[in-house]
Amino acid sequence: MLRNEAVNRYIDIIGGGPAGMMAAIIASGKGGRVRLWEKNGSLGRKLLATGNGRCNFTNQNISWDNYHGGDLKLAGGILENFGLDRTLEFFQGLGLTYYADSRGRYFPRSNEASSVLFCLEQEMERLGVEVNLISEIVSLTRSSGGWEVRQRGQVHKSDAVILACGGAASPQFGSSGQGYEMATKLSHAVVSPEPALVPVMLTGNWFHKLQGLRMDLRLTITRNDEVLFDITDEGLFTHYGLSGPLALKASRIIIGQGLECRLNFLPYIAEAEVIAQLKARRERLASRLTKYFLTGLLPEKLGQTMMTQSGLETDSSCREISDGQLQGLVKNLCRWPVNIKGLRPFKEAQVTAGGVDCRQVFPGSLMSKKAPGLFFCGELLDLDGDTGGYNLQWCWSSGYAAGQAAAEYVLTK
Ligand SMILES: Cc1cc2nc3c(=O)[nH]c(=O)nc-3n(C[C@H](O)[C@H](O)[C@H](O)COP(=O)(O)OP(=O)(O)OC[C@H]3O[C@@H](n4cnc5c(N)ncnc54)[C@H](O)[C@@H]3O)c2cc1C
Repeated sequence: MLRNEAVNRYIDIIGGGPAGMMAAIIASGKGGRVRLWEKNGSLGRKLLATGNGRCNFTNQNISWDNYHGGDLKLAGGILENFGLDRTLEFFQGLGLTYYADSRGRYFPRSNEASSVLFCLEQEMERLGVEVNLISEIVSLTRSSGGWEVRQRGQVHKSDAVILACGGAASPQFGSSGQGYEMATKLSHAVVSPEPALVPVMLTGNWFHKLQGLRMDLRLTITRNDEVLFDITDEGLFTHYGLSGPLALKASRIIIGQGLECRLNFLPYIAEAEVIAQLKARRERLASRLTKYFLTGLLPEKLGQTMMTQSGLETDSSCREISDGQLQGLVKNLCRWPVNIKGLRPFKEAQVTAGGVDCRQVFPGSLMSKKAPGLFFCGELLDLDGDTGGYNLQWCWSSGYAAGQAAAEYVLTK
């Protein structure tokens, strides 16, 4: 078919999040006539919330070891086609400058997620993407030779559709799982969606006084002496337990029987060295009140909590701390036992584990094996990444794949 004949062929994209916008740019850039449907009054509401408003949009160490879900080989191919270098080149081309922090996480130089959204919106405008806001798509059905995309009261005929409705995590930003319903109605299996990258609730009340404290911690999780998780990262104490990157990373495996979880509040010092340091400290600070023994070594509220938990919150002087008490304190500082109550709900999850079964799409194009002309991308698929920019990278990579394949599909139909 001649390229200009494709002008009358529509690609409809349902969902104006990062994956949908990326797909719109790529499909439009390849010559497709693209309509984007977004139920919110603005695009990319979740994107604006990413990275605490700073948008950690990719990572220096993109590899499919950082992804989980149905078929990692699928992720591998797609990440290889449009990985870190092409993502950086793409955003640079849109006028975005960026930097990587010491953990390899990329952020816009402005530290504003709105810069990323602005660049994507400008590019869609330049390419002539028709953006429809406050336009919820309520059903998607096959029709002769194509698709019917239905809003309340209106039907739009389409030649190819890209479903980019997101998952079930943080529905307050718009994605409430409607994509799963549409996919299921078209006979696609959906792997049960579960909250992932979600804060962790703890039992007890020792952490209540630590609310708001953000620090590097080491969390070790074992089952029958087998180490399942042993990571040092930033944790944030809250009224219910632990949030921050450490908790989000642990949330994938933290629920289960027979797990033993321990926190180390001094992750960068070996336990033997902690004992030596505390002995020297006891001598140096001999006349200080015991309850202030750790002040200066740890954040004050943590130091006092640990002294209380170790039975040492007294008005005696530090010289009276016995060797036995010191050993107990070191054990608490380096191997503090934590009991997990559960995970916070979907509303607080960053992503969804589960989704449209990856075995039902063709690797590479992300076109449905069951419904030709239907493509998937982003969080809607059963594929989720670790915290650190991996989920947005999946949106860029899968949006690229679906956008390109959908344009080729309509151009050669
Ligand atoms: C608080 C928070 C912080 C995060 N931080 C990071 C981070 O720093 N780095 C990172 O990599 N990832 C981060 N993530 C994850 C990342 O935001 C998601 O992986 C990503 O937004 C998924 O993109 P998506 O386009 O697939 O879906 P979404 O962003 O959910 O977009 C889907 C869009 O589709 C629309 N929609 C849904 N149904 C319909 C319908 N029927 N009709 C029309 N429109 C519809 C929704 O309104 C929504 O706008 C974070 C997530 C949260 C919640």
